[in-house]
Amino acid sequence: MTDSMRFLTYDDLDEIQMEFGTPTFVYDEATLRANAREVLNFPNAFGLFPRYAMKAAPTAAILRIFNEEGLGIDASSVHEVERAVRAGFGTEAISLSTQELADDFIYWAQDGIKINLCSINQIHKIGRWGKATRVGLRFNPGKGSGGNNRTNVGGLASSFGIWKDDLNEAIKLCQEYKLVVERIHTHIGSGSDPEVWKMVASMTLHLARAFPSVETINLGGGYKVARMPDEKPTDLQEVGAPVKELFKSFAEETGRQLKLEIEPGTFLLAHACSLVTRVQDVTSTGTDGYRFLKLDSGMTEILRPSLYGAQHPIHLVCEPGQQKFRESMEQVVVGHCCESGDLLTPAPGDPEALAPRILPRGEIGDFCVIEGAGAYCSSMATKNYNSFPEAAEVIKKEDGRLAHIRKRQTFDQIIENEVVP
Ligand SMILES: *Cc1c(COP(=O)(O)O)cnc(C)c1O
Repeated sequence: MTDSMRFLTYDDLDEIQMEFGTPTFVYDEATLRANAREVLNFPNAFGLFPRYAMKAAPTAAILRIFNEEGLGIDASSVHEVERAVRAGFGTEAISLSTQELADDFIYWAQDGIKINLCSINQIHKIGRWGKATRVGLRFNPGKGSGGNNRTNVGGLASSFGIWKDDLNEAIKLCQEYKLVVERIHTHIGSGSDPEVWKMVASMTLHLARAFPSVETINLGGGYKVARMPDEKPTDLQEVGAPVKELFKSFAEETGRQLKLEIEPGTFLLAHACSLVTRVQDVTSTGTDGYRFLKLDSGMTEILRPSLYGAQHPIHLVCEPGQQKFRESMEQVVVGHCCESGDLLTPAPGDPEALAPRILPRGEIGDFCVIEGAGAYCSSMATKNYNSFPEAAEVIKKEDGRLAHIRKRQTFDQIIENEVVP
């Protein structure tokens, strides 16, 4: 009745409902592994180490799959470092680029993680500690390529990284503190345009000229995927080829053969997970209004539509025998929170506007499967808002079996830290 689902079957949905309940995130092991292999194949001149940006989806079972495939970790807080270590990563495979360099960094630094300092104050902090010798520096090269100020992480409106014009101050401080800069890092946001990657790679290499000790360039993540048919996916071979050439010319010019690191999150996860929900109510505001399908899920699992006006494929799936009775029509899909922003079908890039989707007429009890839900959904939702429990996560193994990777939160867990003095 709708285009077929990416990796789930109707029988899977039935099993999910019976064994795990809804809403449940379902990850696909085959897709996770295939994506990891594609990333490991990124063009490079003198060696590559891809890191998984684990903030996209930090569940241990996912980390273990990427560990097996040979990826390292990009952690965005000391807590993520700890999570990666508990999931089995060695500290040498972890790099930390964080907006909050919590004091605990010293234990992990002593244990061998790599740190990319993301501000002038972070240079002071690690310098004053006095025991670090080799560090990375994250710069804001002055350009970003995200779709808007919410997804842009480079340029004037972005606080991430040492601003490019502070290069000389960074050099001076590293000399004073006797820090050897071994890595330059930039991460400028979601883009699929090879020209932009080329430009950022050349700006980053330019920064590497200022630090003769640099051995590695890390170009961050931001490889956009096409969740919707009109979006343009990133072709890793296409964006990587000119970058590889730049590394080669840099080597010819300077004699320095730099290694490359990349840190995809979205690219590895986005298509590897679908959120399985059910329609639990249907309301209408009459002939001049809308027909609303209310899910047993919403911003408590997937916030991106409310936050950015992000678009996700939505499949309304009813029992196979019923399909012929359901004509397609415009419907608005909303979540279960008492919050008008809890909307699954906003206009693209405009979270305030309702953009009804053409879907088969939905009824209570139908499944509603939201695809492209692997990156920044489970990890970034408004957990426990309206006191809904955190959803379960399940993996579809390569042999087709479904298994828990995170159980649904219990009611006791929601309130376990509360104290009535
Ligand atoms: C979030 C993040 C990434 C991953 O970004 P994606 O858009 O998910 O690929 C990589 N590096 C850093 C430093 C990040 O903060």
